[in-house]
Amino acid sequence: MSTEHVLEGKTALVTGASRGIGRAIALALARAGATVGVNFSRDAEGAQQVAAAIRALGTEAVLLPADVAEAEAVERMFAQIAETWGALSILVNNAGVVDDQYLTFMKEEQWRRVLAVSLDGAWRCSKHAARLMVRKRWGRIVNISSVAGLTGDMMRANYSAAKAGLLGLTRACARELARYGITVNAVAPGLIETALTADMPASRREALTGLIPLGRFGSPEEVAEVVAWLCSEAAAYITGQTLCVDGGLHT
Ligand code: NAD
Repeated sequence: MSTEHVLEGKTALVTGASRGIGRAIALALARAGATVGVNFSRDAEGAQQVAAAIRALGTEAVLLPADVAEAEAVERMFAQIAETWGALSILVNNAGVVDDQYLTFMKEEQWRRVLAVSLDGAWRCSKHAARLMVRKRWGRIVNISSVAGLTGDMMRANYSAAKAGLLGLTRACARELARYGITVNAVAPGLIETALTADMPASRREALTGLIPLGRFGSPEEVAEVVAWLCSEAAAYITGQTLCVDGGLHT
């Protein structure tokens, strides 16, 4: 299905959009015609490159710096959005971090930081975004969870809890915001080729590939296409759902 022009006239914020899956989502939304806000926390150079790639597609891009774990920074970002666009149609909560450790060795800070970025950040951005979306009685929120949130991952109690938490957040927000024409869904990627999976030892990569029915890791673009589709009118009757993009890993 071609998604070209299906998001024309829409404004979209993608958190953690300077690289990886967030970058691919920002570009997919831009290809579909949306004006895109490229959020980043530290990687200004990466974000600038994404914005340039979006503009090369003939669409507008706005750089939106903010650490989503910081309440005041997010407030400032949404003030900038309200001032620049006066509205927001689409929010993709993509920002996430890992900090792996066995449960018994995991430090308070490791637990808190992972939850603060992936879960608190998504809640915080959803809250601000919903306030802008209700005005237009139209909106799309997509939370990037993970198969880890469904199955749990070794050494990732923090990450698995955050990603599972996102699924609860998705369902609650879907119920609460449906009356305003806002849908809220989650996408749960499996193993995707990004910096997050790049430094995996070859033996582990081979073992994990063996668990994927489609026999390979996915690409960021394969996740991004599903997100863009969920943001389109074609997915208007889907809300509160979790869509695994994982080559069959979690079946
Ligand atoms: P990545 O590390 O390349 O991207 C994460 C992005 O989030 C980066 O741009 C980073 O700068 C940004 N970010 C981190 N902390 C932030 C903060 N506090 N505020 C704003 N931005 C912040 O990894 P990725 O693989 O592209 O992951 C993107 C999302 O997909 C994450 O939520 C991740 O958990 C999820 N995911 C990835 C995989 C995978 O296999 N790669 C699998 C399942 C889920």
